[in-house]
Amino acid sequence: MRTWTRKRVVVTGGAGFLGSHLCERLLAEGHDVLCVDNLFSGNRDNIAHLEGRPHFEFMRHDVTFPLYLEVDEIYNLACPASPVHYQHDPVQTTKTNVHGAINMLGLAKRVKARILQASTSEVYGDPEQHPQREDYWGHVNPIGLRACYDEGKRCAETLFFDYYRQHGLAVKVIRIFNTYGPRMHPNDGRVVSNFIVQALNNEPITIYGDGSQTRSFCYVDDLVTGMMAFMKTPDDCPGPMNLGNDHEFTILQLAQKVIALTGSSSQLVIKPLPSDDPKQRRPDITYARTLLGWEPKVQLDAGLVATIDYFKKLFQTG
Ligand code: NAD
Ligand code: UDP
Repeated sequence: MRTWTRKRVVVTGGAGFLGSHLCERLLAEGHDVLCVDNLFSGNRDNIAHLEGRPHFEFMRHDVTFPLYLEVDEIYNLACPASPVHYQHDPVQTTKTNVHGAINMLGLAKRVKARILQASTSEVYGDPEQHPQREDYWGHVNPIGLRACYDEGKRCAETLFFDYYRQHGLAVKVIRIFNTYGPRMHPNDGRVVSNFIVQALNNEPITIYGDGSQTRSFCYVDDLVTGMMAFMKTPDDCPGPMNLGNDHEFTILQLAQKVIALTGSSSQLVIKPLPSDDPKQRRPDITYARTLLGWEPKVQLDAGLVATIDYFKKLFQTG
């Protein structure tokens, strides 16, 4: 029997890195969770420990097609997040962001569900303001290699805010800054997974450019806590809200930390900087701190140790 606090929650992209952690935490809070994913960059292994649980269901579905369900809340995470994955089929990436948002917003409107959009720090592009606050409009190349993702996410934000104003829908838009942790895909090209995999194999660590570009890395557990707390805020708080860790590191510093924590004999090797690669990125998280009382708790070293441990086990079990 469903209790009054038990909600029916859909997580699109639920078999991906962040989505799988979110499904886990929603189940732990006592909800019915439907994980919707087309497995483009996600993996059934990420949710294998949840399958068979009475309040968990998986549905293989592409969000660019409409979906008819009865639900209370939707977390819209479906979209490949790493540059390697989202640039593999850029037209599909834009469709996932735009058609996916339209379909999920349409569903939310029909059943009067709350809906949260996983937007991104990429909406700020290569930022001219530092750190990035939510009221900064960004600096995005609309025709570059990252545009399918950046502009797709920007258009999705537009749709969310139009549904909020035009249809009174309870929307929540978060802008996620680089998040890492167990269940990242080992070959998705993101910097944390790349460096750890390279270090564990004693292979050269690939520094793109001179390694002076910065990122601020948030551990997955902190991110999910913030995301779920924001979903619970009143209807007149649509965001956008930055969620991330505001400790900033150069890519070179990250490489040195990974080498030290793995005890690797890897050397650094310089590779060309990808086009439109943002030079610096750090969130201003004042809004999340104020509204949610949220604070990222996991320091980079502790988060890296947990992530390294995950990859070690993954390679041991093949
Ligand atoms: P991920 O690639 O591991 O997960 C994305 C999931 O979406 C995958 O399981 C994939 O199969 C699924 N998917 C892709 N296209 C789909 C479609 N058309 N229909 C249904 N499912 C589809 O990436 P992630 O890191 O878990 O990111 C999750 C969300 O968070 C994404 O929307 C991403 O843009 C956003 N985000 C993540 C980060 C980060 O650092 N991890 C940063 C900013 C934003
Ligand atoms: N990067 C790197 N070596 C790698 C992978 C990434 O130096 O093997 C750099 C990349 O150029 C960028 C930063 O690390 O400056 C973060 O890259 P990632 O793809 O993880 O995320 P994003 O650029 O989307 O923030």
